[in-house]
Amino acid sequence: MNILVINAGSSSLKYQLLNPETEQVLAKGLCERIGIDGKFTYKPEGKQALKGADVPMPTHSEAIQAVLNALVDPVNGVIHSMKEIDAVGHRVVHGGEKFSQSVVITGEVMAAIEECDPLAPLHNPANIIGIKACQALMPNTPMVAVFDTAFHQTMPPVAYTYALPYEYYTKDKVRRYGFHGTSHNYVAGRAAAMLGRPIEQLKLISCHLGNGSSVTAIDGGKSVDTSMGFTPLAGLPMGTRSGDIDAGILEYLMGKYQMDIQQMLEVLNKKSGVLGISGVSSDFRDLEEAAPQGNQRAALALDVFAYGVKKLIGAYAAAMGGVDAVIFTAGVGENGPETREAATAGLEFMGIKLDAEKNKVRGKEMDVSAADATVRTLVIPTNEELMIARDTARLTR
Ligand code: AMP
Repeated sequence: MNILVINAGSSSLKYQLLNPETEQVLAKGLCERIGIDGKFTYKPEGKQALKGADVPMPTHSEAIQAVLNALVDPVNGVIHSMKEIDAVGHRVVHGGEKFSQSVVITGEVMAAIEECDPLAPLHNPANIIGIKACQALMPNTPMVAVFDTAFHQTMPPVAYTYALPYEYYTKDKVRRYGFHGTSHNYVAGRAAAMLGRPIEQLKLISCHLGNGSSVTAIDGGKSVDTSMGFTPLAGLPMGTRSGDIDAGILEYLMGKYQMDIQQMLEVLNKKSGVLGISGVSSDFRDLEEAAPQGNQRAALALDVFAYGVKKLIGAYAAAMGGVDAVIFTAGVGENGPETREAATAGLEFMGIKLDAEKNKVRGKEMDVSAADATVRTLVIPTNEELMIARDTARLTR
Protein backbone atom coordinates (compact mmCIF):
# COMPACT_ATOMS: atom_id res chain seq x y z
CA MET A 1 0.00 0.00 0.00
CA ASN A 2 1.47 3.37 -1.04
CA ILE A 3 0.40 6.55 0.70
CA LEU A 4 1.24 10.03 -0.53
CA VAL A 5 1.70 12.37 2.42
CA ILE A 6 1.24 16.07 1.73
CA ASN A 7 2.17 18.92 4.05
CA ALA A 8 1.11 22.12 2.29
CA GLY A 9 2.21 25.56 3.46
CA SER A 10 1.35 28.91 1.93
CA SER A 11 4.24 28.89 -0.57
CA SER A 12 5.73 25.45 -0.07
CA LEU A 13 4.65 21.83 -0.08
CA LYS A 14 6.46 18.85 1.40
CA TYR A 15 5.62 15.39 0.15
CA GLN A 16 6.56 11.81 0.75
CA LEU A 17 5.40 8.59 -0.92
CA LEU A 18 5.73 5.68 1.48
CA ASN A 19 4.47 2.28 2.40
CA PRO A 20 3.24 2.44 6.00
CA GLU A 21 3.46 -1.33 6.43
CA THR A 22 7.09 -1.77 5.41
CA GLU A 23 7.93 1.84 6.35
CA GLN A 24 9.75 2.07 3.03
CA VAL A 25 9.99 5.63 1.66
CA LEU A 26 9.79 5.48 -2.13
CA ALA A 27 10.36 9.17 -2.69
CA LYS A 28 10.20 12.46 -0.87
CA GLY A 29 10.79 16.08 -1.58
CA LEU A 30 9.69 19.64 -1.50
CA CYS A 31 8.08 22.27 -3.72
CA GLU A 32 9.18 25.76 -2.75
CA ARG A 33 8.40 29.29 -3.88
CA ILE A 34 4.94 28.33 -5.12
CA GLY A 35 3.36 31.42 -6.68
CA ILE A 36 6.85 32.95 -7.13
CA ASP A 37 9.40 31.15 -9.30
CA GLY A 38 8.82 27.48 -8.36
CA LYS A 39 11.67 25.26 -7.09
CA PHE A 40 11.29 21.51 -7.11
CA THR A 41 13.22 18.97 -5.04
CA TYR A 42 12.72 15.24 -5.54
CA LYS A 43 14.58 12.40 -3.83
CA PRO A 44 13.57 8.98 -5.17
CA GLU A 45 14.92 5.89 -3.49
CA GLY A 46 17.87 4.50 -5.42
CA LYS A 47 17.50 6.93 -8.33
CA GLN A 48 18.76 10.31 -9.30
CA ALA A 49 17.71 13.19 -7.05
CA LEU A 50 16.67 16.62 -8.23
CA LYS A 51 17.41 19.62 -6.03
CA GLY A 52 15.80 23.03 -6.37
CA ALA A 53 15.01 22.58 -10.07
CA ASP A 54 13.09 25.37 -11.82
CA VAL A 55 9.52 24.22 -12.37
CA PRO A 56 6.77 26.79 -12.93
CA MET A 57 4.32 26.60 -10.02
CA PRO A 58 1.90 29.53 -10.16
CA THR A 59 -0.38 27.63 -7.75
CA HIS A 60 -0.36 24.51 -5.55
CA SER A 61 -2.03 22.66 -8.38
CA GLU A 62 1.07 22.83 -10.61
CA ALA A 63 3.22 21.90 -7.60
CA ILE A 64 1.22 18.71 -6.98
CA GLN A 65 1.19 17.97 -10.70
CA ALA A 66 5.00 18.23 -10.65
CA VAL A 67 5.12 15.76 -7.76
CA LEU A 68 2.84 13.29 -9.59
CA ASN A 69 4.82 13.66 -12.84
CA ALA A 70 8.06 12.93 -10.99
CA LEU A 71 6.63 9.90 -9.19
CA VAL A 72 5.48 8.24 -12.44
CA ASP A 73 8.39 9.42 -14.62
CA PRO A 74 9.53 6.46 -16.80
CA VAL A 75 13.21 7.04 -15.92
CA ASN A 76 13.33 8.54 -12.45
CA GLY A 77 9.89 7.61 -11.16
CA VAL A 78 9.17 5.13 -8.38
CA ILE A 79 5.73 3.90 -9.50
CA HIS A 80 4.27 3.04 -12.89
CA SER A 81 1.01 4.92 -12.65
CA MET A 82 -1.01 7.05 -10.29
CA LYS A 83 -3.16 4.00 -9.60
CA GLU A 84 -0.34 2.84 -7.34
CA ILE A 85 -1.09 5.71 -4.96
CA ASP A 86 -3.77 4.16 -2.75
CA ALA A 87 -4.59 7.23 -0.69
CA VAL A 88 -3.36 10.70 0.22
CA GLY A 89 -2.78 11.84 3.81
CA HIS A 90 -2.84 15.59 4.41
CA ARG A 91 -1.32 17.31 7.40
CA VAL A 92 -3.80 19.87 8.70
CA VAL A 93 -2.62 22.16 11.47
CA HIS A 94 -5.84 23.01 13.26
CA GLY A 95 -8.80 20.75 13.85
CA GLY A 96 -10.31 22.85 16.63
CA GLU A 97 -12.50 20.91 19.06
CA LYS A 98 -14.21 19.13 16.18
CA PHE A 99 -11.46 16.69 15.35
CA SER A 100 -9.93 14.50 18.00
CA GLN A 101 -8.81 11.96 15.40
CA SER A 102 -7.80 11.73 11.77
CA VAL A 103 -10.72 11.58 9.33
CA VAL A 104 -11.49 10.64 5.75
CA ILE A 105 -12.06 13.91 3.89
CA THR A 106 -15.64 14.44 2.70
CA GLY A 107 -17.48 17.62 1.74
CA GLU A 108 -18.74 17.89 5.29
CA VAL A 109 -15.24 17.45 6.71
CA MET A 110 -13.88 20.14 4.36
CA ALA A 111 -16.51 22.57 5.62
CA ALA A 112 -15.62 21.76 9.23
CA ILE A 113 -11.90 22.26 8.53
CA GLU A 114 -12.69 25.60 6.89
CA GLU A 115 -14.56 26.59 10.04
CA CYS A 116 -11.26 26.16 11.91
CA ASP A 117 -9.49 28.66 9.60
CA PRO A 118 -9.82 31.63 11.97
CA LEU A 119 -8.00 29.59 14.62
CA ALA A 120 -4.93 29.13 12.39
CA PRO A 121 -5.11 31.82 9.70
CA LEU A 122 -1.53 31.27 8.55
CA HIS A 123 -1.71 27.49 8.25
CA ASN A 124 -5.17 26.04 7.68
CA PRO A 125 -6.03 27.94 4.47
CA ALA A 126 -2.77 26.64 2.93
CA ASN A 127 -3.59 23.08 4.04
CA ILE A 128 -7.03 23.42 2.44
CA ILE A 129 -5.55 24.70 -0.83
CA GLY A 130 -3.31 21.60 -0.85
CA ILE A 131 -6.27 19.28 -0.30
CA LYS A 132 -8.35 20.92 -3.04
CA ALA A 133 -5.48 20.85 -5.53
CA CYS A 134 -4.99 17.13 -4.82
CA GLN A 135 -8.68 16.37 -5.09
CA ALA A 136 -8.83 18.07 -8.50
CA LEU A 137 -5.91 16.03 -9.83
CA MET A 138 -6.81 12.72 -8.13
CA PRO A 139 -10.61 12.74 -7.94
CA ASN A 140 -10.90 9.00 -7.26
CA THR A 141 -8.20 8.69 -4.61
CA PRO A 142 -9.37 8.72 -0.99
CA MET A 143 -7.91 11.51 1.15
CA VAL A 144 -7.44 11.73 4.90
CA ALA A 145 -6.82 14.75 7.13
CA VAL A 146 -4.43 14.31 10.06
CA PHE A 147 -4.53 17.18 12.53
CA ASP A 148 -1.68 18.61 14.61
CA THR A 149 -4.15 19.42 17.36
CA ALA A 150 -6.06 16.11 17.47
CA PHE A 151 -3.76 14.24 19.85
CA HIS A 152 -4.21 16.98 22.47
CA GLN A 153 -8.01 16.79 22.50
CA THR A 154 -7.72 14.41 25.48
CA MET A 155 -6.46 17.26 27.69
CA PRO A 156 -8.77 17.88 30.64
CA PRO A 157 -10.42 21.30 31.11
CA VAL A 158 -8.02 22.11 33.94
CA ALA A 159 -5.15 22.00 31.41
CA TYR A 160 -6.83 23.74 28.49
CA THR A 161 -8.83 26.49 30.17
CA TYR A 162 -7.40 30.02 30.16
CA ALA A 163 -8.27 32.28 33.06
CA LEU A 164 -10.21 34.68 30.83
CA PRO A 165 -13.93 35.48 30.92
CA TYR A 166 -15.48 32.07 30.27
CA GLU A 167 -17.56 33.28 27.28
CA TYR A 168 -14.33 33.61 25.30
CA TYR A 169 -14.16 29.83 25.53
CA THR A 170 -17.82 28.98 25.05
CA LYS A 171 -18.49 31.55 22.31
CA ASP A 172 -15.10 32.07 20.72
CA LYS A 173 -13.34 28.74 21.36
CA VAL A 174 -10.38 30.43 23.03
CA ARG A 175 -8.56 27.61 24.86
CA ARG A 176 -5.30 25.72 24.77
CA TYR A 177 -5.22 23.40 21.74
CA GLY A 178 -1.58 22.39 21.48
CA PHE A 179 0.33 21.42 18.34
CA HIS A 180 2.96 18.91 17.13
CA GLY A 181 0.41 16.26 18.17
CA THR A 182 1.37 13.84 15.41
CA SER A 183 4.99 13.97 16.52
CA HIS A 184 4.25 13.61 20.25
CA ASN A 185 1.94 10.69 19.50
CA TYR A 186 4.53 8.95 17.33
CA VAL A 187 7.41 9.23 19.81
CA ALA A 188 5.18 8.13 22.69
CA GLY A 189 4.41 4.92 20.78
CA ARG A 190 8.09 4.36 20.06
CA ALA A 191 8.98 5.03 23.71
CA ALA A 192 6.58 2.31 24.85
CA ALA A 193 8.15 -0.08 22.32
CA MET A 194 11.67 0.81 23.46
CA LEU A 195 10.74 0.36 27.12
CA GLY A 196 8.86 -2.86 26.35
CA ARG A 197 5.85 -1.71 28.37
CA PRO A 198 2.22 -1.03 27.44
CA ILE A 199 1.68 2.66 26.78
CA GLU A 200 -1.38 2.58 29.06
CA GLN A 201 0.98 2.13 32.02
CA LEU A 202 3.41 4.90 31.17
CA LYS A 203 3.81 8.54 32.17
CA LEU A 204 5.87 10.24 29.47
CA ILE A 205 7.15 13.74 28.89
CA SER A 206 7.81 14.36 25.22
CA CYS A 207 10.09 17.28 24.33
CA HIS A 208 9.70 18.17 20.64
CA LEU A 209 12.54 20.66 20.26
CA GLY A 210 13.06 22.07 16.78
CA ASN A 211 12.56 25.37 15.10
CA GLY A 212 9.16 25.24 16.78
CA SER A 213 9.20 23.58 20.18
CA SER A 214 6.65 22.09 22.53
CA VAL A 215 6.62 19.77 25.51
CA THR A 216 3.73 17.39 26.21
CA ALA A 217 2.69 15.35 29.24
CA ILE A 218 1.40 11.97 28.06
CA ASP A 219 -0.31 9.82 30.68
CA GLY A 220 -1.36 6.34 29.60
CA GLY A 221 -0.86 7.26 25.94
CA LYS A 222 -3.06 10.37 26.18
CA SER A 223 -1.97 13.99 26.05
CA VAL A 224 -2.89 15.59 29.38
CA ASP A 225 -1.07 18.89 29.01
CA THR A 226 1.09 20.65 26.45
CA SER A 227 3.05 23.86 26.28
CA MET A 228 1.73 25.39 23.05
CA GLY A 229 -1.60 27.06 23.44
CA PHE A 230 -4.34 28.68 21.40
CA THR A 231 -1.62 29.24 18.80
CA PRO A 232 1.86 27.79 18.24
CA LEU A 233 3.32 31.02 19.65
CA ALA A 234 2.94 29.88 23.24
CA GLY A 235 5.15 27.92 25.61
CA LEU A 236 8.90 27.60 25.14
CA PRO A 237 11.04 30.22 23.47
CA MET A 238 11.68 28.90 19.95
CA GLY A 239 13.89 29.68 16.94
CA THR A 240 12.19 33.03 16.30
CA ARG A 241 9.02 32.83 18.46
CA SER A 242 8.88 34.33 21.91
CA GLY A 243 6.92 31.60 23.65
CA ASP A 244 5.09 32.70 26.80
CA ILE A 245 5.50 36.33 27.77
CA ASP A 246 3.62 38.69 30.06
CA ALA A 247 0.73 40.04 27.96
CA GLY A 248 1.33 43.43 29.62
CA ILE A 249 4.55 43.76 27.59
CA LEU A 250 2.47 44.17 24.44
CA GLU A 251 0.82 47.39 25.56
CA TYR A 252 4.12 48.76 26.85
CA LEU A 253 6.09 48.13 23.66
CA MET A 254 3.28 48.98 21.26
CA GLY A 255 2.81 52.33 23.00
CA LYS A 256 6.51 53.09 23.23
CA TYR A 257 7.35 52.20 19.61
CA GLN A 258 4.00 53.00 18.00
CA MET A 259 3.55 49.45 16.75
CA ASP A 260 0.18 48.14 15.67
CA ILE A 261 -0.79 44.58 16.59
CA GLN A 262 0.48 43.19 13.26
CA GLN A 263 3.91 44.71 13.83
CA MET A 264 3.93 43.44 17.40
CA LEU A 265 3.03 39.93 16.25
CA GLU A 266 5.75 40.09 13.63
CA VAL A 267 8.24 40.76 16.45
CA LEU A 268 6.83 37.93 18.60
CA ASN A 269 6.72 35.39 15.75
CA LYS A 270 9.73 36.27 13.63
CA LYS A 271 12.23 38.29 15.66
CA SER A 272 12.10 36.75 19.12
CA GLY A 273 13.07 33.41 20.62
CA VAL A 274 16.72 32.40 20.56
CA LEU A 275 17.25 34.67 17.55
CA GLY A 276 15.93 37.65 19.49
CA ILE A 277 18.02 36.96 22.60
CA SER A 278 21.25 36.11 20.76
CA GLY A 279 21.05 38.47 17.81
CA VAL A 280 23.02 35.70 16.08
CA SER A 281 20.67 33.11 14.59
CA SER A 282 17.55 31.04 15.09
CA ASP A 283 19.58 27.94 14.26
CA PHE A 284 20.89 26.10 17.30
CA ARG A 285 24.02 24.99 15.42
CA ASP A 286 25.05 28.63 14.96
CA LEU A 287 24.42 29.35 18.64
CA GLU A 288 26.41 26.32 19.74
CA GLU A 289 29.28 27.58 17.61
CA ALA A 290 29.06 31.20 18.79
CA ALA A 291 28.68 30.53 22.53
CA PRO A 292 32.08 28.84 23.14
CA GLN A 293 33.73 31.66 21.18
CA GLY A 294 32.61 34.03 23.89
CA ASN A 295 29.30 35.26 22.50
CA GLN A 296 27.43 35.74 25.76
CA ARG A 297 24.06 36.43 24.21
CA ALA A 298 24.26 33.19 22.24
CA ALA A 299 25.10 31.38 25.49
CA LEU A 300 22.23 33.13 27.25
CA ALA A 301 19.78 32.14 24.48
CA LEU A 302 20.79 28.48 24.84
CA ASP A 303 20.49 28.73 28.63
CA VAL A 304 17.04 30.35 28.51
CA PHE A 305 15.82 27.65 26.13
CA ALA A 306 17.17 24.72 28.17
CA TYR A 307 15.87 26.28 31.40
CA GLY A 308 12.42 26.51 29.80
CA VAL A 309 12.51 22.82 28.90
CA LYS A 310 13.67 21.88 32.39
CA LYS A 311 10.86 23.81 34.04
CA LEU A 312 8.29 22.05 31.86
CA ILE A 313 9.74 18.62 32.71
CA GLY A 314 9.31 19.48 36.38
CA ALA A 315 5.84 20.89 35.86
CA TYR A 316 4.56 17.91 33.89
CA ALA A 317 6.03 15.37 36.32
CA ALA A 318 4.05 17.24 38.98
CA ALA A 319 0.92 17.30 36.79
CA MET A 320 1.05 13.53 36.23
CA GLY A 321 2.28 12.60 39.71
CA GLY A 322 5.43 11.05 38.30
CA VAL A 323 7.26 10.28 35.09
CA ASP A 324 8.68 7.08 33.62
CA ALA A 325 10.55 8.54 30.66
CA VAL A 326 11.52 11.85 29.12
CA ILE A 327 11.72 11.86 25.33
CA PHE A 328 13.79 14.21 23.18
CA THR A 329 12.81 14.57 19.53
CA ALA A 330 12.89 16.93 16.47
CA GLY A 331 15.94 18.81 15.12
CA VAL A 332 17.42 19.98 18.41
CA GLY A 333 16.06 17.16 20.59
CA GLU A 334 17.47 14.49 18.27
CA ASN A 335 20.77 16.19 17.43
CA GLY A 336 21.65 18.42 20.36
CA PRO A 337 23.45 16.56 23.17
CA GLU A 338 24.26 19.91 24.81
CA THR A 339 20.61 20.92 24.99
CA ARG A 340 19.58 17.51 26.39
CA GLU A 341 22.34 17.74 28.98
CA ALA A 342 21.44 21.30 30.00
CA ALA A 343 17.69 20.60 30.12
CA THR A 344 18.12 17.62 32.46
CA ALA A 345 21.05 18.84 34.60
CA GLY A 346 20.05 19.04 38.24
CA LEU A 347 17.06 16.71 37.81
CA GLU A 348 18.85 13.80 39.48
CA PHE A 349 16.57 14.34 42.49
CA MET A 350 13.71 13.18 40.22
CA GLY A 351 15.65 10.15 39.02
CA ILE A 352 16.62 11.73 35.68
CA LYS A 353 20.30 11.25 34.91
CA LEU A 354 22.10 10.99 31.57
CA ASP A 355 25.01 8.82 30.55
CA ALA A 356 27.42 11.37 29.03
CA GLU A 357 28.79 8.88 26.52
CA LYS A 358 25.40 7.61 25.31
CA ASN A 359 24.07 11.16 25.18
CA LYS A 360 26.49 11.93 22.35
CA VAL A 361 24.05 10.21 20.00
CA ARG A 362 22.57 12.21 17.11
CA GLY A 363 19.52 11.32 15.09
CA LYS A 364 19.15 7.73 16.32
CA GLU A 365 16.83 5.96 18.76
CA MET A 366 18.71 5.50 21.99
CA ASP A 367 18.17 5.22 25.73
CA VAL A 368 20.69 7.79 26.94
CA SER A 369 20.02 7.39 30.67
CA ALA A 370 22.68 6.50 33.20
CA ALA A 371 22.47 2.95 34.51
CA ASP A 372 21.25 4.15 37.93
CA ALA A 373 18.60 6.56 36.58
CA THR A 374 15.08 5.63 37.70
CA VAL A 375 13.52 7.72 34.92
CA ARG A 376 14.60 6.83 31.39
CA THR A 377 15.71 9.54 28.98
CA LEU A 378 15.13 8.56 25.36
CA VAL A 379 16.25 10.10 22.09
CA ILE A 380 13.70 9.25 19.40
CA PRO A 381 13.75 10.69 15.87
CA THR A 382 10.24 11.80 15.05
CA ASN A 383 8.41 10.59 11.95
CA GLU A 384 5.24 12.58 11.37
CA GLU A 385 4.96 11.34 7.77
CA LEU A 386 4.85 7.71 8.88
CA MET A 387 2.20 8.54 11.45
CA ILE A 388 0.11 10.35 8.81
CA ALA A 389 0.57 7.44 6.38
CA ARG A 390 -0.48 4.91 9.02
CA ASP A 391 -3.65 6.82 9.88
CA THR A 392 -4.42 7.27 6.20
CA ALA A 393 -3.95 3.57 5.48
CA ARG A 394 -6.04 2.53 8.51
CA LEU A 395 -8.94 4.80 7.54
CA THR A 396 -9.01 3.98 3.84
CA ARG A 397 -8.12 0.31 3.79
P1 AMP B 1 13.27 21.08 13.08
O1 AMP B 1 12.35 22.25 13.17
O2 AMP B 1 12.80 19.89 13.84
O3 AMP B 1 13.69 20.76 11.67
O4 AMP B 1 14.62 21.53 13.83
C1 AMP B 1 15.45 22.56 13.36
C2 AMP B 1 16.48 22.89 14.41
O5 AMP B 1 17.26 21.72 14.69
C3 AMP B 1 17.47 23.98 13.99
O6 AMP B 1 17.57 24.97 15.00
C4 AMP B 1 18.78 23.24 13.89
O7 AMP B 1 19.83 24.03 14.29
C5 AMP B 1 18.60 22.11 14.86
N1 AMP B 1 19.58 21.08 14.53
C6 AMP B 1 19.61 20.30 13.44
N2 AMP B 1 20.72 19.55 13.45
C7 AMP B 1 21.41 19.87 14.57
C8 AMP B 1 22.64 19.47 15.17
N3 AMP B 1 23.41 18.55 14.56
N4 AMP B 1 23.02 20.02 16.35
C9 AMP B 1 22.24 20.94 16.96
N5 AMP B 1 21.07 21.38 16.44
C10 AMP B 1 20.67 20.86 15.28
